[in-house]
This record gives sequence, C-alpha cells and structure tokens, in this order.
Amino acid sequence: MRGKHTYFHNCGSLLFFVAHSQVMLKYFNGLNPFYFKSNYLKIIILKNKNINKLKNLIMFLRFPLSLLFAGCISLLLNETLPAQTAADNVKMKSFIDGLMKKMTLEEKIGQLNLPGSGDIVTGEAKSSDIGRKIREGKVGGLFNIKSVAKIRDIQRVAVEESRLKIPLLFGMDVIHGYESVFPIPLAQSCSWDMPLIEQAARISAIEASADGINWTFSPMADICRDARWGRIAEGAGEDPYLGGQIAAAMVRGYQGKDLAAKNTIMACVKHYALYGAAEAGRDYNTADMSRQRMYNDYFPPYKAAVEAGVGSVMASFNEVEGVPATANRWLLTDVLRKQWGFKGFVVSDYTGINEMEAHGIGDLKTVSARALNAGLDMDMVGEGFLTHTPQSLKEGKISHLQIDQACRRILEAKYKLGLFEDPYRYCDENRAKTEVFTPQHREAARQMAAQTFVLLKNEGNVLPLKKSGTVALVGPLADNRENMPGTWAVAARFSEAISLLDGMKKLAGGQVKILHARGSNLDADSLFEERAGMFGKSLRRDPRPAAVLIQEAVEIARQADVVVAAVGESAEMSGEASSRANIELPQAQRDLIAALLKTGKPVVLVLFTGRPLALKWEHDRVPAILNVWYPGSEAGYAITDVLFGEVNPSGKLTTSWPQVIGQVPIYYAHKMTGRPLPEGQWFQKFRSNYLDVSNDPLYPFGFGLSYTQFEYGDLQMSHSRLAGNQTLKASIKVKNTGTRAGSEVVQLYVRDVVGSVTRPVKELKAFRKIELQPGETKEVTFDITTQDLKFYNYDLKYDWEPGNFEVMIGPNARTVKSATVYWEKTRP
Ligand code: BGC
Repeated sequence: MRGKHTYFHNCGSLLFFVAHSQVMLKYFNGLNPFYFKSNYLKIIILKNKNINKLKNLIMFLRFPLSLLFAGCISLLLNETLPAQTAADNVKMKSFIDGLMKKMTLEEKIGQLNLPGSGDIVTGEAKSSDIGRKIREGKVGGLFNIKSVAKIRDIQRVAVEESRLKIPLLFGMDVIHGYESVFPIPLAQSCSWDMPLIEQAARISAIEASADGINWTFSPMADICRDARWGRIAEGAGEDPYLGGQIAAAMVRGYQGKDLAAKNTIMACVKHYALYGAAEAGRDYNTADMSRQRMYNDYFPPYKAAVEAGVGSVMASFNEVEGVPATANRWLLTDVLRKQWGFKGFVVSDYTGINEMEAHGIGDLKTVSARALNAGLDMDMVGEGFLTHTPQSLKEGKISHLQIDQACRRILEAKYKLGLFEDPYRYCDENRAKTEVFTPQHREAARQMAAQTFVLLKNEGNVLPLKKSGTVALVGPLADNRENMPGTWAVAARFSEAISLLDGMKKLAGGQVKILHARGSNLDADSLFEERAGMFGKSLRRDPRPAAVLIQEAVEIARQADVVVAAVGESAEMSGEASSRANIELPQAQRDLIAALLKTGKPVVLVLFTGRPLALKWEHDRVPAILNVWYPGSEAGYAITDVLFGEVNPSGKLTTSWPQVIGQVPIYYAHKMTGRPLPEGQWFQKFRSNYLDVSNDPLYPFGFGLSYTQFEYGDLQMSHSRLAGNQTLKASIKVKNTGTRAGSEVVQLYVRDVVGSVTRPVKELKAFRKIELQPGETKEVTFDITTQDLKFYNYDLKYDWEPGNFEVMIGPNARTVKSATVYWEKTRP
C-alpha cells in the first residue's frame, strides 16, 4: 500500500503519476479514503464546496495539474516524499522554518542535546541542573524517566519557562514491553510470528505513551552470529531476512499509522551498524568485515526498519572500517541517507561521541565536530555538541548548515509526534492509570511467551506433564520473580513478575503436588553471581554448602514422579556488557542436574537463557529440555501452560546453537571454502573441520520440536527452467502425524549454486507458520521471483545472476527437501 503512494520519487515518477491520475480520481470518488484523505489535492477540494465541478475540472486538467502538483512538491521540498504526507510536510516545513528563524545558535545546538536524566530521576525538575538547562533552551530531550507526573513536570519547564517553549522528546529503552513485559527480543524472534511481534510492540507503545514516553530506543536490529555477545538477547538472531521482517514489524507496532496519535511512539532502530559483529563477542569491540558482507548480511534489518518508516536511528559504539560509527560519514550519510533515503534523525548511543576519545581519533572538540560532519544529529549524554560546537563553528570545522540540518530533523520529529500542537499529548494521568499493566496486556504477554519457547529435546515424550501426581521443582531460577522480565526491562514491576513456582502453584497446584527445593546457586563463585544479579535482580544466594542444597533437591526428587529443573543463566548474564567467554551452564548447576539424573526420575530442564548455550553435556544426558529464554512478566504462567500441554510449543531457533564454544561464530548461511567437508562426515585431513568436534551445530537454525510430529512430503516445483521475471512456485505438503494440534514454521531456503562471487550454502527467503489439527495435511506454496535471488556483488551492485538455484524447504536449516532449477535472464 505504502509503495503505491511514493509516486513523486523523482522526475521519472512524474510520468508515472500522470498515468495514474485516473486512479487518483477513483480514490477521489471515495474508494480509498485513506489515500485521498492525505492527498495534496484534498486541501484544494475540501475548500471547494462544488466538488463535482472541481472533479470535472481536474479530469480535464489532469495532465497539467499533475505536472504542477509534482513540480510544486519537488520545488518546495526538494526531496522524495510519500504522497500521503506531502501536504503535511509543506505545513511542517513552513512551521519549522518560522521557528528556526527565531532560534539563536545556542538554542539550535540545545536541540541536539540529549543529556542523562541524572538528578531529575530522583529530584524535582525545576530545581535540578537539567531544569536550568531546559530553561536556557539547552536540551532537546530526556530519557528513561518514568511516570506522567514527572514527565509533565519537566515538560512544563520546557514549554512555560524556556524562551521559545519548544517541547522535549521523552525517550526510554522500551525494548520488550513496558510494565507488561513480553519475552526478550531473541525469544520473540523464535515465534516467527510477525503479527504477534507487531502486537507486542503495539502494546508496549500503548503502555509507554500512556505513561509519558514518546520515543523508544528499539528495535535492535543487530545481526549476531556469536553467542558470546551478551546483547544477542536484544536482537532477532543471525538471519538478515528474518531480522528485516522483525525490525519492520516492530517499527509498525510502535509507530502505528499515525505518529501523532496519542498511543504511538517514535521508534529508533539501533545500533547502526554492525554492533553484533563485535570481535570475540566482547561488547563494544571492533567489528571488521567486507562491504559485501555488510550489505548482504548485516545491513538488511536496519534498511528494513528505514523502509518501514522508522523515525530515528541510533549510531553504534563500535568502529566500522577504522572509524567509529558515530563519526562514520559513509555509514550515516552515504548509506543511510543517500542510498536508503532515511529522513529522520540520528542519535548517538550513550556517550558515544565522548568515547571516540578513547577510540583514539581526537579530543572531545574534534570528535564532536567529526560526528556532526558525519551526519549525527543528537548527542546522547556526553554534551560534546553542547560544549564544543560553537568553537568548532568559529574555526570553520563545521557549518551553520550542518547545525541547522540536525536541529531541523529533531524539530521535525517533535512536530510529527504532535508535540507542538500539544506538548502534554502523552501525559494523560487517566491513561497512565487505565492502560498500563492491564489484565489484557498481561494476558497478551503470557500468550506470546508460550509461542517463543523452543522444545529442544523430548525423549520418550516426557513432556507434556500430566496434571496429577507429584512434581519436584528445583533449581536457582524456580522461585525468582525479579529475573523473569529478563534484561533491558527498564519499566518492569519486578516483584510482581510471575515465577515458575508461582505459576505452577496457581495453575496446577490444585491437581499436582508440588515440592520445591533450590538445589543449587546460580554459580559456585559468589562474586560471579553478584555480577550476574545486577539491577536489583539478585538470585538471593543460599549460603549453605552446595552438597546440602543438592541433597535437599535429591530428597524431593525421590518423592516425585517427575523433576522440573529451572536452570540456566540469570537475566543479567546476557544483555549489555554481559559477554561470556564460556557459554556452558555453570558447574554448580550441572552438579545438581547430575545428582537429579542419578535418582532415575525423568528430568525436564526448563532452561532460562538470553543467548544460545553450549548444551552438549545436558543434551547427551537429560531427556527433555524446554528453552524458555526470558519470558517476561507472566513467565511462570506461560511456562506452566506449556509444561502441562495447555499450549503446544512451536518456537524455532533463530540462531545456531554450537556444540562447543570454539565453533562460534557459527551460522547456517556460511560459505563453502575450497576444502569443504563432505556432508555427514566429521574429520578428514586437509579439509575445513576440527579434530575434536564435527562442524555441525548442536541445534541448527530454525530448529524446534513440538508435542506432535510433522511429516514433510516431496518438494514440488512449477518449473525446472525459468527466464526473466517468471515466478517459480515451490510447494510441499506438511502433515500432522501426531495426536495433538500444533503449529509448524515451514522454511524456504535458496542456494545460488554458482556466482560471480562465492555465495552462502543456503539463505532463508520465506517462511510460513501453519496450524495443523491431528491428521491434517496442508500444502504450503512459496512464490519465488528474481527479487529473491538478488544480492550485492563484488561492485556492490544489487542484482541476480543467471544459473542453477537449489530450492530447499524444510522444518529447519539442516533438514530440507531440495530441487534445482535453472534460471536465465532472457529466453534464448
Ligand atoms: C545502550 C543503548 C541504549 C542506551 C540508552 C546504551 O548503553 O547501548 O542500547 O538505548 O544506552 O539507555
């Protein structure tokens, strides 16, 4: 739909527009009020009472009118605009022109400043240092301040006590929910359910906007193929196509159709760019790769967010090609604005400008000027722009034009959010009371969480559990509420989150006898446990010796029919600056598991984690493993729903899980090498492999079991040879051969067999999540066009190359049915 409206793209589209004026008139007749409502012509028409006459006139004059219309737009705005916002943009431009004429240089620079909220979080806005700066017009926005009362109070200082009364932006890290917390983003991606992901973002926006927030620092679109990196928890995994779908869904969810609506907020795609490719998985570390890889594998999700209309972009901390992203002109201007057409503003990450001093590219004055020159508009926390821009201007290091441009972009964001019309638009105490942490939102969080769990193993159908008999619930994460929301849950009500013990008691306690013991601490090392329990998410360490804790757990296990062990990482073992060099379960927990297994009782691991783990030891020994990530505020209910079979798990991994840490970075879309290992083999001398472990992941990308079984039929292809813009149809029948209804994510991969550059062994091109009743069969058909074959070649040209393509469909990246087609450019 949106694409239809970008008629005025450039001069070439003028003709296109003319050809479509007939279509416009159809809309004009009321067939599509959405289009027409926002059309430039509407203004003329609404002001004219005699609509029919005007219609005829337009009919007659449609060619010259179209030219005039398009000409006006390009003359006035000198940039590409979606047709439906052209009129609004004219209004916005004239408003901001007028405002900027009144602004002093200092006030313009002030708009570029996003200071830390510091004393305002605890004290009173008026008397704070930030209050003073706001009054002086030195602040463009603030972030991570919670509550309408507080935000209203601060906004009041801006719009009543500053000279030009420019309202502030209020940002927050609303990453996976507000007070109703949804599963961590990595978990959400495992649902492969775009409407569900969009809905989670929508609800997050409703709650955040009800509490004063109008801008979120989400989605995080960083591709990550290295499980050591703690922030893998905040993204959508390893795949660029899936990552792009998810980033776009989240932007749609946050921003809705109208950014000025009271319940939508501006999104900010981050961390641009390549942040997830930090060397050695160590946070903030150097990222270095070819541009081909950037364009093909790492850029697509950021680009997808831009195409979905994201309002802002956050520059990443890391360097890219030797220049920190924050001052990287190629990234921030050439790629982002010139190639992708991004029109919003770019904000640095937290002290991202100042940190360039430590990167070693100059003092604060130099790096601030470099950032502005590169195309960065807003300075988060560091105040390098505020303190050094005037001097840099005097020295000719930056221009008035650059300051004006950055200031305009920030004012435009405020305008689009409707803040100039009503600075208190998001400060409605009544909404804060009625639209946050509601039973409906919590129910949505619970339902979504169950869709994100991945059943990794279920030998002998240990799961689902019977709602009878005795369950021994053990493990350091069984009775902990504070950890359930997971990392980056700034607004969560931690003590009201539902622990697994809470959930099980409430939902199954009537029928099942639940015995509980802690069994082990998170880790034997208390200092490690402290680092892993920051931000009030303590694991409440049990000081007794490990052997005593284990003994207690073994005793209740002996009395039970089944043991559920809630083990894994604490919430803060992933997230920012939570990289791990060892991604196995801590030994203290393994000792507990070993002791439980010795009882001979069936053991189910409920695995909490923010990253893929190296789980070989557990996989080889434990019959059932349900990975629940960090499920959010309703964790305990959602886990109980799945454990007892109320919900059949259908999550599928969006990252490859290694057998051992030494395999990372590991990802399914790898290249071949000149000495690949023949399929199904392990070691061959002088082949690309390891002496001590096979190349395979423990669990491949796309993998996840169900309580039922799905059988894939043969792959049917509409063609074996194609030319040009033909469409290939690839179909497969999927049957539910088990006894329960279940959902299955059917995945389509394509391999470009021979290319002008080396190509991945397979790439995800599409997927479909289907629901099947017991015994039911559905046929899934994918349409493949040359658009799906395109990639960035050596010269970074985006195109497809003729030749053989292997088409693969299956339940995960490892298990596929395949067929080959030959696709030529034109028919000979
Ligand atoms: C993180 C960002 C976050 C920002 C503001 C930084 O440390 O890297 O992801 O949005 O802080 O809280």
